[in-house]
Amino acid sequence: MLADIDTWVLDLDNTLYPADSALAAQLTHGILSTIAAYYRTDLAGARQIQADLVAGYGTSLRGAMLTGTIDPHDFLGFERRLDYSVIEPAPDLAAVLTALPGRRYVYTNGSAYHAEQALSRLGLDECIDGVFDILAGKLVPKPYAESLDAFLGRFGIEPARAAMFDDLEVNLALPHERGMTTVWVNGEVPSERLAERRWRAADLLGFLRANI
Ligand SMILES: [Mg+2]
Repeated sequence: MLADIDTWVLDLDNTLYPADSALAAQLTHGILSTIAAYYRTDLAGARQIQADLVAGYGTSLRGAMLTGTIDPHDFLGFERRLDYSVIEPAPDLAAVLTALPGRRYVYTNGSAYHAEQALSRLGLDECIDGVFDILAGKLVPKPYAESLDAFLGRFGIEPARAAMFDDLEVNLALPHERGMTTVWVNGEVPSERLAERRWRAADLLGFLRANI
């Protein structure tokens, strides 16, 4: 069923490394403390502001920029303080990704710096052909069409030949409409086919091993 696929589109956070990684907690804290400092509030206040920004603008960063004056590089400064050593190297995943036919891209709402650090720690930097980050998308995040179109255009991707993996189902609806095969990586066992070209998988490595 994945025989026609020659382009592999991979989300980063909670997809290429597990959702229970200690990095996820660090990311959440980094974003919330940045919002708390910028909006001069506490963590509870920041949590509410973040929820409003994400609901209205897709990501906290885009919302903070459109409704305020924050510089994206200042906003993303917390990434420099993250401890990426909490991510476990993933040699089995590297081997499986390397064996996939065609090209492999990371499509993330995070920054290129964050992707480079995480991919290097995972040991996946050698098997990824390109990273499309939030700045490449001119700050418009998944799941907006402007982001997907810019991503597909940047790498000349033909949707019918592409499979996209993401832990957020909302990010997969438009790619599926455009003809991509989608795999929602959400930790639930067993993996199952939800519809034509639409899958849910417990984890990326297990799915690729079972289906390639
Ligand atoms: Mg993710």
